[in-house]
Amino acid sequence: MALTDTERRVVGEIDRRRDELVKLASTLIGFDTTARNPDDPPRQERQLQEHLGERLRRAGAEVEIFEPDPADFVGKPLYQPGMGFEGRPQLVARFPGAGEGMSLLYNGHIDAVSVEPIEQWTSNPFQAEVRDGNLYGRGSCDMKGGIAAMTFAAEVLAGLGVRLAGDLLVTTNTDEESSGAGGLALVLNGIKADAGIVTEPTGFDVWISCRGTSYAEITVPGRPGHAEVYQPHWREGGAVNAIEKAQVVLDALKRLREEWAKRSEFRHPRLSIPDILPTLISAGEWAVTYPAECRITIAVLCVPAQTDEEGWTFAVEREVDEWIARAAAADPWLAENPPRIAWWPNRVMSLEISPEEPVVEVISQATADVGRPGRLSGLDSWYDGATFTRLGGTPAVAYGPPGFTPDGRSVAHTIDEYVPVDGLVDCAKGLAVAAMRYCGVA
Ligand SMILES: [Zn+2]
Repeated sequence: MALTDTERRVVGEIDRRRDELVKLASTLIGFDTTARNPDDPPRQERQLQEHLGERLRRAGAEVEIFEPDPADFVGKPLYQPGMGFEGRPQLVARFPGAGEGMSLLYNGHIDAVSVEPIEQWTSNPFQAEVRDGNLYGRGSCDMKGGIAAMTFAAEVLAGLGVRLAGDLLVTTNTDEESSGAGGLALVLNGIKADAGIVTEPTGFDVWISCRGTSYAEITVPGRPGHAEVYQPHWREGGAVNAIEKAQVVLDALKRLREEWAKRSEFRHPRLSIPDILPTLISAGEWAVTYPAECRITIAVLCVPAQTDEEGWTFAVEREVDEWIARAAAADPWLAENPPRIAWWPNRVMSLEISPEEPVVEVISQATADVGRPGRLSGLDSWYDGATFTRLGGTPAVAYGPPGFTPDGRSVAHTIDEYVPVDGLVDCAKGLAVAAMRYCGVA
């Protein structure tokens, strides 16, 4: 498919003004929006949102910047109890369509992971710098580059007077890295469109799947006692080593993982197989004492076939509970002193969008037509598109600039994170063409 005259004009304008796009991405990188732990004070989230809001208003959008009410989130799985949103507003900018076209939502998360250890960076991660055609800085790849590209695409369309038939929404939220609460805030605010594009760094691929995840802390009890003296059997009051008993739990989890790996219905064309892995472990109070307990944190990663209609992992959590209970029942000490399992209240859902969904074809064709063909793929981790799709009724794929080095390593969350400038520019083109085709030009 070839570009139409109007599309060619838009693409040419993005090329001509590419320095402005780089400047916008650099400005966004300059705001400190480091992802938080629940009690961290706000940083420059408000300033960033207001900067974007001001630009989008100037381009003709109706802009709303709002702080969500934490009361709306209580008991919701994407929310970490105790989180507030003071100083961390969400942004919705709407370019109203001229007719009856389909509505499209662009979305990005403004939080970026910590810059530490900052002394290892070649240049200041908050002062974006172009070297050898790449823009360096924290968030350049994940995902202030994508936010700049989608904002710029909307601005260029408006600036050239290209009136879309359907609404175009530009939305940015906080708290993707920390929890998923930011995307949920937009959905709870009623944000909805016929389709969405989240501009995560997909390298021009179109992500239509992701895995659901949940975490748990398992506490395995032992019984303290002197490590250097004779211990009678535990029934006679002897000590029990919690670290050795934790092995029973770890073995059970390994067997469950192997079981999942054998099941053909859990194979997925775009995702890795399901997984359970211990990610934290701690035990012991004193070198010369049998440890009283051993605490294991596990990550459970589920393919869509394992999750419920909304993508949640609750049934898998029950399965994990049962495997641990069965293994514990076979061990005399653990049968009487069972491990305790505490699932984290915040969990994220899996995502599965049909390849037949019209936005998938539109964005795939648009990116091919601007010279950057991509594949249909998925993300083993999670992104906000799952929330829009599962809870908001907006099928939201991800499509964005390059996020991998030429030899295939992910650039997100790394020291010297970067986005190639050419890739950023082409992503803005792909996004603009997709909006024209999906929403229609009035
Ligand atoms: Zn991201």
